[in-house]
Amino acid sequence: MEETLRAAGAGAGGTRNISGNSHVHLMLEQELADLHGREAALIFTSGYVANDAALSTLARELPGIVVFSDAYNHASMIAGIRNSRAEKYIFRHNDPADLARCLDRVPAGRPKLVCFESVYSMDGDIAPIGELCDVADRFGAMTYLDEVHAVGLYGPRGGGIAERDGVMHRPTVIQGTLGKALGTIGGYIAGSAALVDFLRSHAPGFIFTTSLPPALAAGALAAIRHLKASSAERDLHQRRAATLKRRLAEAGLPVMPSPSHIVPVLIGDPVLCKAVCDELLQRHRIYVQPINYPTVPRGTERLRLTPTPLHSDADIEALVVGLSDVWTQLTLRRAS
Ligand code: PLP
Repeated sequence: MEETLRAAGAGAGGTRNISGNSHVHLMLEQELADLHGREAALIFTSGYVANDAALSTLARELPGIVVFSDAYNHASMIAGIRNSRAEKYIFRHNDPADLARCLDRVPAGRPKLVCFESVYSMDGDIAPIGELCDVADRFGAMTYLDEVHAVGLYGPRGGGIAERDGVMHRPTVIQGTLGKALGTIGGYIAGSAALVDFLRSHAPGFIFTTSLPPALAAGALAAIRHLKASSAERDLHQRRAATLKRRLAEAGLPVMPSPSHIVPVLIGDPVLCKAVCDELLQRHRIYVQPINYPTVPRGTERLRLTPTPLHSDADIEALVVGLSDVWTQLTLRRAS
């Protein structure tokens, strides 16, 4: 990043088409295409912009298209689908049978696009990608998979849950962020060369905005290359999450079951949720984010814990002891 900063300066200086393109942008796109086993990739200034731009453009430009969206999809996918003004159906979260019912309602000849995520960030649950793609294939639908919470974190090379589950070749489009596991900022989609060229030529969110600063692109590039070659961080991360879940459960704290690194602790009341976080900060100097409505449905307010690979046993212990103390102080219910 430092070398690129010195060579290219702080900003890209323009849009990708008008002087804001560089060698490092193209190398990053090649690296991303390779990460997901696709012909091509296209970078955007954030994961949000990638979803909004790609979905709104695809669903606006393909005549007669119908979009099928998982009920828990992220706001950026919802924004893209809404902005396209395409006809849409919401299918039940992670439910291939309900997706099939929705697809069955639409005439066979119309183009269809099914949109879902791999790891859902508020519950930490994981989509049955292969099954959803099976259903989509049966109805001749394209698929769009958001791997924002999985890129770098899952799969032998960090390609996400689709790579881990051996189904990386299935979705038509894979979308991700450079801002979470990869540590900088930016977003992208990966797909066929024709689809990427189509979005490059038609997506206003790609065309009419200054491109990613080259130094940030260089940072993401280095992170992807490192995580393709090293699983040490991923292994440690999973072990830290497992330890945290076990220790919370042993302390009788209501940790919600999750198969991922996301560890939600149910509180079920917005005022108490905020109070737990305030007490934890004031009494134990630990900062945890309260997650309240509208981010999660009312009555499911929660703390959302996500350990990093570098949290130690002592860090985890301090959190569990602190939370346990706050639980007692606020007379909250323990899990049986
Ligand atoms: N998709 C999902 C599922 C997300 O949770 C987020 C949140 O950050 C985004 C997309 C947006 O990504 P970015 O932060 O890179 O804009």
